[in-house]
Amino acid sequence: MAKKISLGEYANNGERAAAQLLESALPNRYLLLTNFTVPDEHTPVDVDALVLGIAGVFVIEIKDWAGKLRGTNAQKWQHNGTMKSNPFEQAVRNRRILRSYIEKHAKDAYADKRFFLGTNFYSILALVNPQADTSEVKLQLDRWARFAPTLDDLPRVIQNDTAESKHFITYADICGIARVFGAPQDELDAWCANCFNPNRVGAKFCRGCGNALPYSAA
Ligand SMILES: [Zn+2]
Repeated sequence: MAKKISLGEYANNGERAAAQLLESALPNRYLLLTNFTVPDEHTPVDVDALVLGIAGVFVIEIKDWAGKLRGTNAQKWQHNGTMKSNPFEQAVRNRRILRSYIEKHAKDAYADKRFFLGTNFYSILALVNPQADTSEVKLQLDRWARFAPTLDDLPRVIQNDTAESKHFITYADICGIARVFGAPQDELDAWCANCFNPNRVGAKFCRGCGNALPYSAA
């Protein structure tokens, strides 16, 4: 089970369902942040969900659109015949902005800021509404730009990556990145550094491995 830290309100049921699924389906070693803003001075972006794992950083754009969807990598999409700005491009843009924000704050996020260069960043567009018809969504994907055509595909799209990843982010660096986006320290302290079990805030001992958590001293 992943450690989930909600930093804002869900915008819709699709975001809530995606967060709940990721929390339960991803293994312990993943950290999930939901609903926060990257305060880039030029283009602040709202991130629906961010998954931090040893294999990389996954920036997830969630669309809770029911009905007929039609779209490609470029140009506008159609949603039940109405034009919508391209959510695939939005996901890729969000990844770029979040990556450059972390780069700018690499000194705070990483034990050694050069480790930033070893971090893989991925975008994921997730179409999570159970009533969505995605048969006319035709996307060219690459290693960094991923697509989950249904909610159930989302955990797999993330976990696929571990094997091909050369670089690994440490627990401390994952917590550092989360702190840059405002994750509270008591939440991070509850995420066991030894076995990554997602304990409740304020727990003195890890329910996974029994190790003392940071508050036990307080
Ligand atoms: Zn533990």
